[in-house]
Amino acid sequence: MLGRGDLRHNGRCQLGEERPAFAGRGPKHGRDLKERALVSLVSKTQQMRNVQHPAGWAASVGVLLLCLAAGGAFCQTPQPQQPQPQQPGVQPPSLVDRVGATGFIQVYADSFKALPLASKIGAYWLSMAAIAVNPIAYDQNSVYGLREKYLLEQIITHSQGIDPAVLKKITDYAKLFFGNHGNHNTFTSRKFEPEFTPAELRAAASRALQNGARLGPPGRLARELRELEKPIFDPDFQPMLTWKNPPNGQDPLEASAVNFYHGVTLLDLKGFTERYGLNSRLVKKGGRLVEEAYRAGTPPGSSEQVPPGLYARELGLAIQYLSRALPYAPDSQKRVIHDLIRYYQTGERADWIQCGIDWVRDPSNPDFSNGFVEVYKDPRGVKGAIQGFVTVVDEPMNRLMKSFADHVAYFEQRAPWDTQYKQEHPQPPLVHADETLIETGDFDVTTIGDNLPNEAEIHAQYGSKSFIFTGSMRALSSAQGHKVSEEFASSQAEMERARKYGDLAEELFTAMHEVIGHGSGKLSPRLTHEPANYIKEYYSTLEETRADLMALWNFWDPKLIEMGAMPNYEVAKAAYDAEARAALVQLREVPTGDTIEEDHRRGTQLIVNYIRDKTGAIQPIQRADGKVYMVITEYQRMRQGVGMLLAELMRIKAEGDYDAVKALITRYGIHFNPAWRDQVVERYRKLDLPTYWVGINPELELHYDAHHQIDDVTISYPRDFLQQQLRYTRIAGE
Ligand SMILES: [Zn+2]
Repeated sequence: MLGRGDLRHNGRCQLGEERPAFAGRGPKHGRDLKERALVSLVSKTQQMRNVQHPAGWAASVGVLLLCLAAGGAFCQTPQPQQPQPQQPGVQPPSLVDRVGATGFIQVYADSFKALPLASKIGAYWLSMAAIAVNPIAYDQNSVYGLREKYLLEQIITHSQGIDPAVLKKITDYAKLFFGNHGNHNTFTSRKFEPEFTPAELRAAASRALQNGARLGPPGRLARELRELEKPIFDPDFQPMLTWKNPPNGQDPLEASAVNFYHGVTLLDLKGFTERYGLNSRLVKKGGRLVEEAYRAGTPPGSSEQVPPGLYARELGLAIQYLSRALPYAPDSQKRVIHDLIRYYQTGERADWIQCGIDWVRDPSNPDFSNGFVEVYKDPRGVKGAIQGFVTVVDEPMNRLMKSFADHVAYFEQRAPWDTQYKQEHPQPPLVHADETLIETGDFDVTTIGDNLPNEAEIHAQYGSKSFIFTGSMRALSSAQGHKVSEEFASSQAEMERARKYGDLAEELFTAMHEVIGHGSGKLSPRLTHEPANYIKEYYSTLEETRADLMALWNFWDPKLIEMGAMPNYEVAKAAYDAEARAALVQLREVPTGDTIEEDHRRGTQLIVNYIRDKTGAIQPIQRADGKVYMVITEYQRMRQGVGMLLAELMRIKAEGDYDAVKALITRYGIHFNPAWRDQVVERYRKLDLPTYWVGINPELELHYDAHHQIDDVTISYPRDFLQQQLRYTRIAGE
């Protein structure tokens, strides 16, 4: 992924491959986040637990939270969102709310304001299409998902007179439920249970019914509550969203909560060929396998009659919104929208492929994705989960990446490796930096880089688009505040550098890693295959480490100041500090054992341990209180170490020298001091940072002039997750 930044890589810098086979996909991007950057996305074994809000934390996150925390009363009437006065360009901290180990963070997309009006209106309707398909995610995650969602919504919107303590438990649960599109944690795949009891839920629901909730008649409500009791309260009932290897010989399709299959086992599918791979549910009816395609059907009177299928209502609504975006879309995007409408009508793969082909060739800003895309949630890895996003180009970051791309030959020439491995005309990869205006369904704030489309046939012939989602990166980074660097910085000066220049160092690191890192270097003519064929299981570590080192190397090049990319070399120091700290802090992600298996973590250890050994420029120190820190004794000496390792890794890649890379990684990348790890785990635990993250989208609003023409679209940041989700429900018309 991209911690400081990096996209997953398969030749050119791409995020597509290596997705975790496991259900709860973890980060959907290249390498793991380096701690200094963001957060561990998740430890997959971790369960939801209730954590008290840390003292002092609430004060920083605004009025809304205080309102929720004080007695836990849910604000029933949506408050008008008053924009908070703030300095231009300075956002309030992104962490808005927290339930247990889950942090709710506001995503910002200030690039939106600079768009022309037509683009803003187009973005508005594309966002509405993303909202229209959002309910599908609940149904895909569980056959009970939409019923549970409806029950929760009816209670919290008709809550007058419900015991405030119970209501607090219900709203907390609802936030987690909406944040995960059901009651399984998106990251761990595990079911989470409410704090309220079945009796409390019954009492709250009947109170809501008296308040006018559409839950009646009472007999029907009682039956509904009975039927939902196991799905909500029983931890052993469908405990996992996706269970690829359930115990006791259970069938993965039957054991998993996901609703891609009903009454179907893997055995039933032997010899069965699906017509709609990504977009259908398979159901056993009368002993026969039936494929329920997701489609809206063609409109009456069409020359070719395709009947509606599953999710016809949601897809039909998405089509209406997509149609409204059409008049504002550039021609290349009009083609994509027409294709998508056609695909949502027919459900045919050929229409989806055409949409992907036109999308890859469409450079429009804003851009969007809407469809059944990723297959991690299906135990078979075939069915696509619904996702929607709309992005706007992050111009400052894109400009930065462009200026590196303009100087790619300069940086190649000044690389520290042997001339025979330098290209004369290096080609920088194309990566877009974007802010997300909305993310729905299976797409969430923890995805900070992506490469689409997934279909190999489109990649091969038409290429793909690579994104880094800078709005999400910043939201995650801001949510951590500077707590991590404060705890692990070895001096006051380092802490201040991190505070002042940490974010800039991070963005520069990302830009250089992507733009001048991965594409650099030339292979020896002796290689007859791709380097991955020679480097084998160490290739990913080698290539990501090489791109990291290229970034670290160039922080000291005078070109960066000349380009206006950074004001002084304090930024370079901040980047080096962060690298040294990362080797220590990341140990918390290896809570057991004494070896590192994950490729990207190995890369960080390789860099820091190699430099410690060869140059002595990084030295661990232990303070009187026992705490360990990484101290950089001499920055230029550290840079020499960066150059030495970079030159060697380039040689290894160019020559396909498997033995050399194996020796390096075995010596420097795998082993660590378990006592340090135990200490780091404990220090990190005390910081009490959320483990899981849910994003709050920006909100777009249309404004009309006296002639009922749209004359503006404004963007605001609601900082209220629950109200936003209730608004989405109203839009989706459930
Ligand atoms: Zn990378």
